[in-house]
Amino acid sequence: MEVLRFYLPFKRFFRQLWTSGSTDKNKALVESLMQCGVIKSPKVAEVMEAIDRGLFVPDGNSPYHDSPMQIGYNATISAPHMHATCLELLENHLKPGMHALDVGSGTGYLTACFAMMLGPNGCVVGVEHIPELVATSTDNITKSGAASLLKHGSLSLHVGDGRLGWPENAPYDAIHVGAAAPEIPQPLIDQLKPGGRLVIPVGKSFQDLKVVDKKIDGSVTIQSKLSVRYVPLTSRAAQLQNY
Ligand code: SAH
Repeated sequence: MEVLRFYLPFKRFFRQLWTSGSTDKNKALVESLMQCGVIKSPKVAEVMEAIDRGLFVPDGNSPYHDSPMQIGYNATISAPHMHATCLELLENHLKPGMHALDVGSGTGYLTACFAMMLGPNGCVVGVEHIPELVATSTDNITKSGAASLLKHGSLSLHVGDGRLGWPENAPYDAIHVGAAAPEIPQPLIDQLKPGGRLVIPVGKSFQDLKVVDKKIDGSVTIQSKLSVRYVPLTSRAAQLQNY
């Protein structure tokens, strides 16, 4: 009996995962991240439910598995628990009307989530140095719950070297970097608003997810949150070597 009490909810969860439509599978993924404590904020859960990960993962992959996946060009879409972790860390800096920058926007998944947090009066900029990924991310977002925000311009995607940030829309309340930098690029610190927060993986083979907070007086504090593994924040030529 005891065994059945634990076994049946799991059986139900996996049956739902395999037999339901994509919206239900995305919801089940978000619920599992809530159950294991990665998602704590109702707003983060709401936004990750609204943006279906299945629209951002190339065909042939299992979008609702909690793992990173290849997206071509030696890049990956981060695992759902990393997307959720970064949204949680940035939540207080992603309020309606604020400005956010997503460096290494890849599939556009997190850029779309940011746009949903900030709403139509916000400003979200994605910068990605592979033009083909900018094109696919535009298609992905056009099919998603953030389509109207892209259409009306509160979300924009650009080809560029994200190590330089995107000065046009600075300063930012929130900056996220989706690739690991050998050290924190100074332009990103410069483009952070006083009171703003930057989340960035730093390191080479061993990387830490760092949280950089700029205080109102302009001084900066840096905390290491957890060990992570991201593709490098580098030049386009270095990334496409051997591709
Ligand atoms: N958050 C994205 C992560 C994609 S992987 C997602 O989950 O889809 C990291 C991305 O950073 C890759 O798409 C890679 O092309 C990009 N990248 C690496 N170095 C870069 C640079 N200097 N400027 C802009 N983008 C960069």
